[in-house]
Amino acid sequence: MQTQTLERLESNVRTYSRSFPVVFTKAKNARLTDEEGREYIDFLAGAGTLNYGHNNPHLKQALLDYLDSDGIVHGLDFWTAAKRDYLETLEEVILKPRGLEYKVHLPGPTGTNAVEAAIRLARVAQGRHNIVTFTNGFHGVTMGALATTGNRKFREATGGIPLQGSAFMPYDGYLGKNADSLDYFEKLLGDNSSGLDLPAAVIVETVQGEGGINVAGLEWLKRLERICRDNDILLIVDDIQAGCGRTGKFFSFEHAGIKPDIVTNSKSLSGFGLPFAHVLMRPDLDKWKPGQYNGTFRGFNLAFATAAAAMRQYWRDDTFERDVQRKGRVVEDRFQKIAAWISEQGVPASERGRGLMRGIDVGSGELADKITAKAFEKGLVIETSGQAGEVVKCLCPLTIPDEDLLKGLDILEESVKEVVA
Ligand code: PLP
Repeated sequence: MQTQTLERLESNVRTYSRSFPVVFTKAKNARLTDEEGREYIDFLAGAGTLNYGHNNPHLKQALLDYLDSDGIVHGLDFWTAAKRDYLETLEEVILKPRGLEYKVHLPGPTGTNAVEAAIRLARVAQGRHNIVTFTNGFHGVTMGALATTGNRKFREATGGIPLQGSAFMPYDGYLGKNADSLDYFEKLLGDNSSGLDLPAAVIVETVQGEGGINVAGLEWLKRLERICRDNDILLIVDDIQAGCGRTGKFFSFEHAGIKPDIVTNSKSLSGFGLPFAHVLMRPDLDKWKPGQYNGTFRGFNLAFATAAAAMRQYWRDDTFERDVQRKGRVVEDRFQKIAAWISEQGVPASERGRGLMRGIDVGSGELADKITAKAFEKGLVIETSGQAGEVVKCLCPLTIPDEDLLKGLDILEESVKEVVA
């Protein structure tokens, strides 16, 4: 495989190609193919970007039809027919059935762009600067978003510029099973001398993806919403990784029955892997003046076409979400067995997750890396997350056929047995 040019010219900053050092050429649903024709099962799926699989035929057709019609591809933030169709479909298929009313801000196309826009909006709307975020949270690596991201590796890479405007609180479970970490937050809010500036907003992931598949309890999320309401703090749910069906509902916060003031989506929003993000906001929070926040790529018309097609194809009824929940239980069951087996070998391990966002915590990044490297040798692409990369995580396409899901799980189990034995 010819990798010399790639190694020579691409910056040292590259990451995934270190774990999977082959040249990929093709992909279909949950399978990737490399230049030598070898196939891999994909449990990474663009780190949660390909919930509907690689080259999903329904979405590809929508994209090809759109291109074939010479539809507008780039139009700054012009009104286009594709944008109108996207917004109408979002309202009809996703928002209305869930009793949600939001206005839509189309920022730049990546997750961190959406987070920047969301926290800026919260500050503008509230006239306050402080954003409360949580331990192990990951919200992106541009300066504003990075200030709300916990991981030191990313925080230290600013060239010394201080990260400002945020305060970290302990996430659910951070202080141990018997403590409700929100007691601490609530105490600080109620104490004029705590040093916590009254926040404009709280930003939270309902399941922390990069932070190690840490799952916030539903009661904890409800209490967080209550605390925000009682203290005039906006609640931002960053659903960039956990949204678009990953946890078994379109929005991950649906499980808790809460209604965030602001929501960020990106990753799987276009459905096809095209760069695309939006920020949903309570209509009365739309305090932006025209053009006050801009960018050349505000809404991507090709992504409007595929995103609308994805909503129509998968979210008109609950068939798809029930199937995701079923597959989630398959992974949960197998991960529990694998974790129990690892623990029996004297290495404490545990399983956690919600829907098809699941992981096995094997206690150390070194062991997790050995497992994922072995899995790759055997034809499975799977990555780690967590503060030390100690969680082997499954983010397979939600559309993965059962046969591939079971094969991927078998490969993972064999890899664990070879590495841990
Ligand atoms: N927010 C969450 C919850 C994420 O998981 C990520 C990326 O993994 C981001 C924000 C940043 O998204 P992007 O990498 O597209 O900037």
